[in-house]
Amino acid sequence: MFMKKVGGSVVNAAEHDISLSSGELASAVLPDVCVRHGIAATSRQELALTVRKRMPDDPMILNTNVVGMAARAREQLVQGAVKREDWPLCPRCASTRNTNMLLAKTLGVAGPVLLVVAVVLAIASGPGALAGVLFALGLLCFPAALVLGLNSRVAAVSRITLSQDRTQVVIHEPSQAFEQQWRARNA
Ligand SMILES: [Zn+2]
Repeated sequence: MFMKKVGGSVVNAAEHDISLSSGELASAVLPDVCVRHGIAATSRQELALTVRKRMPDDPMILNTNVVGMAARAREQLVQGAVKREDWPLCPRCASTRNTNMLLAKTLGVAGPVLLVVAVVLAIASGPGALAGVLFALGLLCFPAALVLGLNSRVAAVSRITLSQDRTQVVIHEPSQAFEQQWRARNA
């Protein structure tokens, strides 16, 4: 199954990953099961794929100047997401998504509250161990909320990524049922 053409798209890399162009995603006939578990989809959610931010150690960033970086950052902001409105999710996928979203929202509220409590405590009874711990926990809530928020995206739940140039979509390690339906419907 190496480099096999499927519906005009190419399958390679990890054997079962499904690669297709952004344009093909818009017209693909979607399976009725979820990517991850191969369980019958009970809801359809919006899949919005955005380009992942480059890592600081990315040579592309190191080898360019600030103006170039700013231009690229602006370019990424201006470009909208590659979308599909009716992506299939099973109850387990939806549950994972909802749990992560709820936790992200909770931490998003808990973070500022903990910071305020820590500051009030420090003002009331002087800086102490408890105030320090609460402050640190408050700060930790922000990155944790961000990670959970990112993990709650349909793209993360379904393990789908978009190439940096936004032309290629990869569905990583689809379930057998999803892969079979995909290939049958998009041959
Ligand atoms: Zn699922």
